Amino acid sequence: MFFVVTKYLTPRGFRGLTIFPFVFMKYASDKVNPVFINHEKVHLKQQLELLILPFFIWYGLEYLIRLLQYRNAYLAYKNISFEREAYANESNLDYLNERRLFSFLYYIRLNK
Ligand SMILES: [Zn+2]
Repeated sequence: MFFVVTKYLTPRGFRGLTIFPFVFMKYASDKVNPVFINHEKVHLKQQLELLILPFFIWYGLEYLIRLLQYRNAYLAYKNISFEREAYANESNLDYLNERRLFSFLYYIRLNK
């Protein structure tokens, strides 16, 4: 995992963007923010499980489906299964040790 502090690669309104093996972040202080790091590590695991490129295709497609479902860009983003898993468990610093493979699938159901 490599940290890159940049104002330009992180999308507007976001603090981080993970593209294996890089974590792009807006604020250098997040390098020592355990919750932020844990969230991004969950995404690194998800990306490895899906062999990276399919993760981004799935992420984009699910975002579009969630956009139809919620008609709100922020809610659509927060409800992508990868984000649901990462947000639900980012504060549990043991999560990645306990996590089973493909756990994001538990977060995919539509009616949540
Ligand atoms: Zn995330």
